[in-house]
Amino acid sequence: MKRKMISRAALSLLLALSLLLSGCASAAEPAPVPTESTPFQKFSRTDLSAFDTVITLTGFAPDQASFDRAADRAFERIQSLDHIFDGYNAYDDLHNLYYVNRHAALEPVEIPDDLFQLISWCKNQWESGLRQTNIAMGAVLSIWHEYRTAGIQHPEEAQLPPMEALQAASEHIDFNHVVLDSEKQTVFFSDPELTLDIGAVAKGYAADAVAGILYLEMPSFLLSLGGNVYAGNAPMDGRSNWAVGVQNPDVTQSGTKDILDVHDKTVVTSGDYWRYYTVDGQRYHHIIDPETLMPSTKMVSVTILCESSILADFLSTALFVLSYEDGRAVADSLDGVEVMWILPDGSIHATDGMKDYARSLKNPS
Ligand code: ADP
Ligand code: MG
Repeated sequence: MKRKMISRAALSLLLALSLLLSGCASAAEPAPVPTESTPFQKFSRTDLSAFDTVITLTGFAPDQASFDRAADRAFERIQSLDHIFDGYNAYDDLHNLYYVNRHAALEPVEIPDDLFQLISWCKNQWESGLRQTNIAMGAVLSIWHEYRTAGIQHPEEAQLPPMEALQAASEHIDFNHVVLDSEKQTVFFSDPELTLDIGAVAKGYAADAVAGILYLEMPSFLLSLGGNVYAGNAPMDGRSNWAVGVQNPDVTQSGTKDILDVHDKTVVTSGDYWRYYTVDGQRYHHIIDPETLMPSTKMVSVTILCESSILADFLSTALFVLSYEDGRAVADSLDGVEVMWILPDGSIHATDGMKDYARSLKNPS
């Protein structure tokens, strides 16, 4: 998605840190020892051309050509989803998010299966009552996006959006006005001022879709789509898990807050430290509380570990907005979902099951 909320410089820093992160994470592991019984080698590819983030695929394959074939399929799928989920650009004959936001209030729009699945999944969650992640909140989020983009371009003139404008927009964020027809695979907005912003879940959906391909194509892989990581089968170098770092919220410090040892799991973090702008010396980040219409200040980061990346992405945003107590109640009600919260005072909380994965909880120092 070519939203350009992250500057080139920030993207380079992100790339440098992600390389550093993988270096750090693997430095804690014994060096892989290739043996005759494991004739697979480790390969890796990094791409900056989709989802406005750094995408890295690491995988085991018998040779470079086999890795490239599988990686080509994975990255083709990522490119295709990037176009379908793009809210800022039109593509010939594609009823993508941009098209939907401009036409769905005029008449029902037939949309690609991936977009239909993503919207229906989010609507089901909303109907079940977890409403802190609301992709129908485009009217409010686009105001924040506009002010943030302007504030990043001209920091000396950075301003907060007027509360009256946010409140007026919040009259148009009711998911009931997103009408889906699964027979015809159409979407219709019965409120003409409603728009969708799928930034909270698009990378999670994409990570699941690509992991589905990679499970068939590679004996073992680690996919990183910005803050969304999907770890496949255990690496084929003698280790029983992939090491996934939990970013230190102070991004000027190298290293990680923690390392999670996982396979066949996704790890997704929402944090306040990548996408933000500064007004009068105060930072305003990109995760907006639907109640206050302001960036939520309860958390610094929330990391979700489970098997579905769209669920992890959805929950990382929702639990970022909720208090620890309310988020903990949600997490404890869900099977197979573990959470790590980092609060503004630096304290770290985690669900009980996180001790099976997080090194700091396995060996408290
Ligand atoms: P990131 O995209 O940085 O990984 P998230 O997954 O938490 O972080 O998604 C944040 C994005 O989701 C924002 O950029 C915005 O587009 C959108 N968003 C922000 N707040 C909400 C919210 N309460 N509900 C739904 N979408 C949101
Ligand atoms: Mg999210």
